[in-house]
Amino acid sequence: MSPIKPFVKPIIVLSACLNSEKVRYNGEIISDEFVEKLKDFADLITVCPEVSIGLGVPRDPLKVYTSGNGYRLFQTKTGLDLTEKIKIFSSSFLGSIGDVDGFLLKGKSPSCGYSGTKIYSNINAEHIIKRGSGLFAMAIKEKFPYIPVEDELRLKKDAVRHHFLTRIFVFAEFRHLKKNCRSISQLIDFHTGHKHLLALYSQKKLNELEKIITGHKKGKLDKTISDYSNIFYSAFKKNPGARKSQIFT
Ligand code: SF4
Repeated sequence: MSPIKPFVKPIIVLSACLNSEKVRYNGEIISDEFVEKLKDFADLITVCPEVSIGLGVPRDPLKVYTSGNGYRLFQTKTGLDLTEKIKIFSSSFLGSIGDVDGFLLKGKSPSCGYSGTKIYSNINAEHIIKRGSGLFAMAIKEKFPYIPVEDELRLKKDAVRHHFLTRIFVFAEFRHLKKNCRSISQLIDFHTGHKHLLALYSQKKLNELEKIITGHKKGKLDKTISDYSNIFYSAFKKNPGARKSQIFT
């Protein structure tokens, strides 16, 4: 078997209850095969927002409900409204982690859930009105609009998993380039190496990136990288789809 070619390890923020710590409301841990494999190829930052805001293990479950234009996080049994606490924690934590390449969160959680969290119409409602995100996941999407956010349940779908893996490894390489880029030729080399992938995701964005490179002015490397960066991340926003992602298998 040929050795794995050197690569930059993605930095991934992981819900601590996924293969790491017994912090779930019931004191359990989730064991997921994909997360276990990823541990060898990524640097993980684990976090449990609910424990971080002072809740114990085990604890009474939380629920998310709509209120006015926003969402609230509530512990029905104790009557505790934890909305402000989790918002303050999320803002402080997300502001402290620096550049990361992705988030892998526990699905359906009132704090970490990406898209399958139960949302209730009011504090006393027993039936859900829709599924959405937990409050920590909402804060992530707002602060890091182009960084991949997924949960372990969605990652069981091939197309979602390929899209996630593609982005975290490409973004890790780009993070490394941004930190170490000393000349336009390094950016050109990076761009050339990712041209086909970019074309697969968005020919329009690829053209915009080429314009930025050809328009580079001597002494303005920081500006060129900053302009390139803005377009580069957005080029990977949309999943090119199951058919095209077969290329990555
Ligand atoms: S889903 Fe998030 S908040 Fe809940 S136990 Fe896991 S890490 Fe903690």
